Amino acid sequence: MTMNAFVKKERKYGGSLERVPVPVLAEGEVLLKVRSTAICGTDIHIYAWNGWAQANIKAVPLIMGHEFVGTVVELGKGVKSLKAGDVVSGETHINCGACYQCRNGAPHICANLKLPGVHRDGAFAEFMAYPESCLVKLPESIPVEYGALMEPLGVGVSAVENARVAGANVVVVGSGPIGLGVIAVARAMGARRIVALDVLECRLGLARRCGADHAVDTTKSDPGEFVMELTHGVGADVIFDASGNPRAIAGVFKYLRKGGEVHLLGLPSEPVAIDLASDVIFKEASLYGYHGRKMFQTWTRMLGLLDSGRIDLENFVSHRFPLSDAGEAFELLMKGEDASKILLIP
Ligand code: ZN
Repeated sequence: MTMNAFVKKERKYGGSLERVPVPVLAEGEVLLKVRSTAICGTDIHIYAWNGWAQANIKAVPLIMGHEFVGTVVELGKGVKSLKAGDVVSGETHINCGACYQCRNGAPHICANLKLPGVHRDGAFAEFMAYPESCLVKLPESIPVEYGALMEPLGVGVSAVENARVAGANVVVVGSGPIGLGVIAVARAMGARRIVALDVLECRLGLARRCGADHAVDTTKSDPGEFVMELTHGVGADVIFDASGNPRAIAGVFKYLRKGGEVHLLGLPSEPVAIDLASDVIFKEASLYGYHGRKMFQTWTRMLGLLDSGRIDLENFVSHRFPLSDAGEAFELLMKGEDASKILLIP
């Protein structure tokens, strides 16, 4: 039995649609008919074959993709909690279950994490094998194709839940898919004013749709001046960075209020220069980092937020492509202009 899949075939730029074998199940895994997937920044790194991808992708050919939703079609040995027909979304941090973090309540930062589409075959395919322990059953109230958005939205839920956003002035640096999730969740959780920053007009428009009160183009205005004026010289209570831009991150401390919080979600490609004395210590600033979603508290909270009807997932989708046109979708994202989250439908 073979299937269509979008594959990184060689250690160079690009990817291609190939006929590959349908995966064989290991113990504890289920076979999913993939219903919808989404392209993440990590996939773009792998497609573009940048330095990160060259260092982290050990084996090709590799089926790409890690944001997905599927229907269970076959159960492997020992699977207990799922049955054929269940619609499930994937927690992409596959943990070992044995390391210190796994045994002390933090399996999402397991010492031996494996990610689909990076360390093992991923989701851009008609079928996918996945461990039962890392799948989450979705309620019928969530349209199936949006199940592929749970993973990126969950990063925002994890960070906003840990922040004190109720009644707070919030700044979100970077209005890509992760930033949009932060904005929508901060709005749902009762933020006072939300300021979204980006350098692309299309992303600022999406930020407004997701609940930002102000969308500032940082190529045209100074975000620090804007925030200080908005907060009457006090500064922002809570700042989320979803840009990973080293200069933008170093810059947030100029408009963070004393005693404020900085939550870091974006991944800088180089070290960030922060003056710890003036920016953190004298300011009593708190810094937090996030790697994915808590397993599975974040998922429980996220499904609750979605069920409350306060988050419209359509706001996150910029395009839909059939899996067979995945190459075209990647090229659109490589141009970086008017694409945000692209769904690939097998
Ligand atoms: Zn572990």
